[in-house]
Amino acid sequence: MTPDSIAESESVSEPLDVAIVGAGPCGLAVAIALQERGSSYAIVDRGCITESLTHYPSYMTFFSTAERLQIGGVPFTIPEPKPTRRDALAYYRHVVAHHGLEVRQYEEVTGIERGEGAFTLVTRTWDGRESLIAARAVVIATGGFGEPNRLGLEDGEPDDRVIHYYKEPYPFFDQDVIVVGAGNSAVEAALELYRNGVRVRMVHFADVLDRGVKPWVRPDIENRIAGTEIPMHWRSRVARLGPGTATILREGTGEETEVPNDWVLAMTGWRPDAALLTGLGVPTDPETGIPAHDPTTMATTIPGVYIAGVIAAGYNANKIFIENGREHGALIAAHLVNTPR
Ligand code: FAD
Repeated sequence: MTPDSIAESESVSEPLDVAIVGAGPCGLAVAIALQERGSSYAIVDRGCITESLTHYPSYMTFFSTAERLQIGGVPFTIPEPKPTRRDALAYYRHVVAHHGLEVRQYEEVTGIERGEGAFTLVTRTWDGRESLIAARAVVIATGGFGEPNRLGLEDGEPDDRVIHYYKEPYPFFDQDVIVVGAGNSAVEAALELYRNGVRVRMVHFADVLDRGVKPWVRPDIENRIAGTEIPMHWRSRVARLGPGTATILREGTGEETEVPNDWVLAMTGWRPDAALLTGLGVPTDPETGIPAHDPTTMATTIPGVYIAGVIAAGYNANKIFIENGREHGALIAAHLVNTPR
């Protein structure tokens, strides 16, 4: 089914008030806010509920305290101040059950058509079943994990050797691993690898760690780098991979260093996928990646199209996260109530 065939389709029923794309913490917060105001809605995710969190490092602890991550008025109570990934995965499932949200999981929105008074979403389930959802408004809450920031290796990036998701250290025991980047993800992965029998080194394009590295982690990584337990290649990038080796290029001097290497963990961040918004005619700032929108209502420049969650931060995923993205649901619900359609 393509958007072109939508007009001929007979399966589009009476439009819902809102269709939400993405069941991350921020999409779920939108659904709850709409449900509380009596709006009809569908919420669709191409993966499971909070799919992004399932890809986070297995043993990670959130930097936010539990109450800063809670949504829908459901208390997030745990014995420690900061939840682990498992705590959060369990909590958001409990929220869905508590509010009786009907999330359509494993159903990707592949296109959205703007029609007279309603939008039509084209969806496809993981096993290929296609359907249409009609709604008077659309909320795009698809998060920031559209496409990884690739390393720009001279000979291209081999998918089986350059990894953009880090889960746990055990597959890398007794291996030579390069961690690229110097943000929280890179630093935490490097330390965990180092403590689990992995020969790890870091490569970073700048000459300092990212400013956002958690203060309680910073002394640990700084000491490991200073002691060369974790060698750090500042102002450098990985230029080439060879059999069992990597060539690291120092920016400015052009000096090349060949090191033993089995795996590259590219902790270089991800970019949101703006395809659905672009298809709807919502412009995105080419510099920042931020879709044009009013941050007080989360309404975009196209009437009836809203954004929620980290997608509103564009390429800087450190500006919006669960703590503040969870507020978007209430803004959208309030705007929809006051906007005659
Ligand atoms: P996401 O959680 O990414 O949800 C987007 C959803 O959209 C996904 O489930 C995806 O499957 C779905 N989707 C995408 N495209 C489609 C499509 N076409 N059709 C259907 N579904 C689609 N934030 C904090 O506030 N505190 C923290 O302590 C914290 N720690 C973090 C630690 C790590 C290691 C990382 C990586 C992030 C951390 N964050 C933290 C950030 C936080 O997890 C994200 O900001 C949050 O997931 C954003 O929520 P979201 O709902 O906007 O997007």
